[in-house]
Amino acid sequence: MPPATPEIPAAIPSIVDGRPVETTASATTIPCISPADEIVLTELHEADAGTVDAAVAAARRAFDHGRWPRMGVAERQHILMQIRQTIVDHADELAYLECIDAGLPLKSVTAMHVPRAAMNFSFFAEVIGQEAGETYTQTEPYLSYVTREPAGVGALLGPWNMSLGLCTMKIASCIAFGNTCVVKPSEYTPLSMHRLVELIHETDLPPGVVNLVNGRGQVTGSALTNHADIDRISFTGSTETGALIMAGSGAQLTPVAFELGGKSANIIADTANLDRALDGALFGIFNGNGQQCLAGSRILVQRSIADAFMAKFVERCRNIRVGDPLHPDTEIGPLCYEAHLNKVLSYVDIARAEGGELLTGGKRHADFDRGFYMEPTAVLASDNQTRVCQDEIFGPFAAFLIFDDIDEAISIANETRFGLVAYIWSEHMPTIMKASREIRAGTIWVNTPMTRELRAPFGGYQLSGIGRDSATDCMNFFTEAKTTTIPLADFTMQQFGRGD
Ligand code: NAD
Repeated sequence: MPPATPEIPAAIPSIVDGRPVETTASATTIPCISPADEIVLTELHEADAGTVDAAVAAARRAFDHGRWPRMGVAERQHILMQIRQTIVDHADELAYLECIDAGLPLKSVTAMHVPRAAMNFSFFAEVIGQEAGETYTQTEPYLSYVTREPAGVGALLGPWNMSLGLCTMKIASCIAFGNTCVVKPSEYTPLSMHRLVELIHETDLPPGVVNLVNGRGQVTGSALTNHADIDRISFTGSTETGALIMAGSGAQLTPVAFELGGKSANIIADTANLDRALDGALFGIFNGNGQQCLAGSRILVQRSIADAFMAKFVERCRNIRVGDPLHPDTEIGPLCYEAHLNKVLSYVDIARAEGGELLTGGKRHADFDRGFYMEPTAVLASDNQTRVCQDEIFGPFAAFLIFDDIDEAISIANETRFGLVAYIWSEHMPTIMKASREIRAGTIWVNTPMTRELRAPFGGYQLSGIGRDSATDCMNFFTEAKTTTIPLADFTMQQFGRGD
């Protein structure tokens, strides 16, 4: 059990200029339901267009007239490190809130999500300490130099599968460069970000730099992304929502950075260390209850080892501890909400109808009367063109495919609308290098599951996204480049109207 059981507020409001927004009598309230036992944890007070307007106006004021964009780098770094420290100091509380709201196992939230949230702020504090400009002297007699200025107000929208880790990445990368923002976490998981934005306002961060709006995507989210006073949209979520946001924001040419869905191949070659590959394949699909953009959800196994590998995978699936996300031994918790559980379960019938073979799982978990628990599931798909291999299912649901040689594995890996990540397990260097060169995905993980190097670009090809996250990519996205040109010596200018 966690060391403390923090109080859950009676309501989750929006936070504008550092203060909770008073709820009007006509405001929509949405129950926040615990996925572990279906009890109502609290209620969310939805931000309507008026509240979104107030939040954007606060961010605009803080940008146009406030201290934050004008502050020296050392002071900004100091405040970013204060935010990091407050996350470290409240790690148990934040982990608890994320765990009960999202159903994510406490063990992984504590070990990965909360430390990542803290690191996002220290990472970008360091990044801004190392920014360097460009100078050009080739065009004589001029000196041209390039400076970077904050872009303005960011609209930052996150999904429910890793609210704290992903929303903090957006906040840190946005405000570090002197911008201000309005954050909208998912309506399914508002607790951790609400608490964090409260905590942020106990640091020296000026009010108005980080504002929070809560509510559904089609109400609060679209009011925010279509707002005329937004300078950047950073969105992580589904490909379908990304397309809607882009259609709306296109009218104003608001630049977007999108981290979207995936259906990543996890290639197990017969030259792999098979024990490591088995651990990696299980982690790749079941970490985060299978609800991960970067899940290795298509497991491609070479024919000579396929039967033995799938048998061991199934045996391990049956041993996975599914249970209360707060329990320290739990490996897979409940899915985030009931409609999502039903969507994931519906793919079992789809798999059968497509000629797939159910290897294990496939049902709501029988051990629980309440809660959105599902058995870890694996199917052997009949073909890569089936829906279980093409749709992002986003749950504890692995689809196996069998290949004969590495060329076939690469071509299967590339037969997808997505292109976020790919995994390759092999001890044979030419196989590794060929796969890493030829697979069209933003990140290739070799003999390792899911390791994020924050300095390196992360993002997707095709429908997996637009843009990348990294020190340089985030700087480019959240700043405007300005070129200043000065002559260093006399030069001849055309003199209009002198009659020479
Ligand atoms: P979603 O697209 O339903 O929602 C994401 C956010 O957008 C939420 O805050 C939601 O309220 C908001 N939203 C929804 N409709 C909107 C609209 N019309 N206008 C503006 N905002 C709107 O996604 P989700 O179900 O919360 O998250 C799961 C998806 O996120 C999966 O597809 C997953 O792959 C993706 N994801 C991608 C990454 C990545 O780094 N590529 C990371 C995590 C999750």
